[in-house]
Amino acid sequence: MNPNLKLEFLANGLALLTIDSQGQKVNTFSAATIIEFASHVADLTPRTDVRGLLIASGKSGQFVAGADLNELAVLSEISRAESAELIARGHRLFQALSNLPFPTVALINGACMGGGTEMVLSLDHRLAADIPQTKIGLPEVKIGLIPGWGGTQRLPRLVGIDAAIEMITSGEPVGARRAVEIGLVYDAVPVERLIAEGTYLVEESHRTGDWLESRRRLQQPLGLSDDQLNFAFAVAEGAVKAKVKGQYPAPVIALRTMKDGINRTLEDGLAIERSSFQEVLETPISSTLIAQFLNSTRLQRETGVDDSGTAPRSIQSIGVIGAGLMGSGIAAAHARRGVRATMVDIDRARVEDGMRRARSTVEDRIAIGRATQNDLADMLQRLTGTTSRLAFQDCDLIVEAATENETLKSQIIGEMANIVRSDAIFASNTSTISITRLARSWPSPERFAGMHFFSPVDRMPLVEVVRGEKTSDETVATIVALAKRIGKTPIVVRDCPGFLVNRILMPYMAEALVLLEGGVEMDRIDRVATKWGMPVGPITLYDMVGLDTGLYAGEVLRVAYADRAVPTSPVLAELVKLGRHGKKTGKGFRTVDKKGRFVADPDVEQLVAAHVHNRIELSDEDIADRLFVCMALEAVRAWDERISRQPGDLDMAMLLGVNFPAFRGGPLRWCDTEGAGNIIRRAAKWESLGPRFGIPASLAEADRTGSRFYQTSQTTVARAP
Ligand code: NAD
Repeated sequence: MNPNLKLEFLANGLALLTIDSQGQKVNTFSAATIIEFASHVADLTPRTDVRGLLIASGKSGQFVAGADLNELAVLSEISRAESAELIARGHRLFQALSNLPFPTVALINGACMGGGTEMVLSLDHRLAADIPQTKIGLPEVKIGLIPGWGGTQRLPRLVGIDAAIEMITSGEPVGARRAVEIGLVYDAVPVERLIAEGTYLVEESHRTGDWLESRRRLQQPLGLSDDQLNFAFAVAEGAVKAKVKGQYPAPVIALRTMKDGINRTLEDGLAIERSSFQEVLETPISSTLIAQFLNSTRLQRETGVDDSGTAPRSIQSIGVIGAGLMGSGIAAAHARRGVRATMVDIDRARVEDGMRRARSTVEDRIAIGRATQNDLADMLQRLTGTTSRLAFQDCDLIVEAATENETLKSQIIGEMANIVRSDAIFASNTSTISITRLARSWPSPERFAGMHFFSPVDRMPLVEVVRGEKTSDETVATIVALAKRIGKTPIVVRDCPGFLVNRILMPYMAEALVLLEGGVEMDRIDRVATKWGMPVGPITLYDMVGLDTGLYAGEVLRVAYADRAVPTSPVLAELVKLGRHGKKTGKGFRTVDKKGRFVADPDVEQLVAAHVHNRIELSDEDIADRLFVCMALEAVRAWDERISRQPGDLDMAMLLGVNFPAFRGGPLRWCDTEGAGNIIRRAAKWESLGPRFGIPASLAEADRTGSRFYQTSQTTVARAP
């Protein structure tokens, strides 16, 4: 096996240990690497002839990315004793490193994260390359964990509690300069000077002898008074708890671990950290967040098609039909990222409106310091608006974002075939119309697909790439590559009414109205949904998206899924008839006040009261189940039809498209966490309400066989010899 670490002895008496994970773009601390590392440290420990140790990376601009995430993903699946051993192995290694009989220096030449940071914290000195790639952090809380290899204890002892709390509970890294300011590294130096400066530090340490004193100090309690400790942590705890809303335990546990450990010896503090680490592993959240991280890195790599030989076509320019809300957003998103975009609408005024909206996407960013005037000028150079479709003659790809009307769209598609290049690709942004049907109006349906953006385009990361019956792999791969190029996350789905996200969302939205007409107050419905983790409740979502849009989309899906969909809500239909279309008209389920907030409206309450029938008493749990079990069952049906390519794609689409709560991982992951049997029992309670609460065959099967949507990871973790 190729080694991941190389130990050399330099002429000046120093040892140089270089980390270079074989066959990987980044260095990680897999269990195998830790074992290898430990054997080098064991060899170095008795060496009285070595003056010092430098630890460097063999990869340019990258130090150590942290533990191997595939291995972390299995941590929650292995036994408690095994995970405890993995953690203890890291602690033993870093303790042994910190006790080597000569000065030790880390030469940090780029990203240094998680376990990488914990390793450098156990050395006597750290030097950072003064380059933008240098980022030092402990991002564990972002994947539901806490630093488990000494980070919660060594960082506060080195940089003080305030800076440590900030870094550990936010998970945000610091750059080289900031690392110097807080005392995390000794200095930031030019990258090519790292070895020379490291050598100098070893010699200085020998000259002054203070490295031994520092070591002794860092093993001791921090020695804060109770008042100091309580004050610092009380403030932080309030801020962290407000941020995580009881849904993400890791930052709170990290905080408690620091507080409990730093006024004890390092050894005792590390024992507390080990037990806290087991505590976070016991929540399902860390494995859920790690699975999500792996899903998103997989999506970044994937081409969207099974055949790895399919290359995407190069797209230099696009044409956008319709300069409305979506069209202007789509054109701006492309022009901002280097793709020429031309918008066409039916009259000059609409084109100008679209151009104004496109400009404002960058102007709004300039206002908050996220873009510059140059970015605006660059975008405008690549963006044009006109009323003449002849401007599309040379475009590589057309995105259609005209008014949602099948006859109109089919007509536009047919007309465009006579204008654009014969090899151009056509993508429709329709939210409800069948891509397979629309493709019939295009001369080559294999070069036709859905490219479904979400509103507002500049903020929503998801693009559903909808595969019609005849869409070719090349077309899918081209749209996937284009969506990535403009910074979006494309997820390939098969054509079906509502595609993936709206199909799964709609039963939940409809159920909210069934609850409303069953006498549950709209504030309570929204409150239960937000407590469950949604950023806004379904009634507020109607007001934000538009009641007219909700009514229309709901109607399409009701017809398409007539076997189980609930009848159209009379309340929704009446509100739309009254012109109460939500935020855009200033009135919907609630009224928008002068400050832009949605407030209760007695007129609507009266209208709703007139429609309330079959009032029954429901607990908050009942309401949550009616909303979310209903949604999850539709997700299972969509997966059974393989509308997405993987369960992880379906879940990511719901996270990115409707902000499904990340800590629950997506509807399918939620079914896995709760257990199929549990979901079935809860659905059965509402069976009498109709087939929407019927159990899909695969869920019943999962209950019988104990299978899960997410298969247990195949990764194994190396054991100590
Ligand atoms: P919109 O009404 O803001 O814009 C539609 C534009 O198309 C209008 O400016 C209209 O003048 C123009 N148009 C109509 N006929 C045309 C023609 N023959 N040639 C050129 N332009 C023409 O609507 P929108 O919200 O931007 O929706 C556009 C499409 O995007 C629809 O298919 C919709 O379903 C879809 N969509 C909307 C959302 C959303 O939240 N609004 C989200 C995803 C997808």
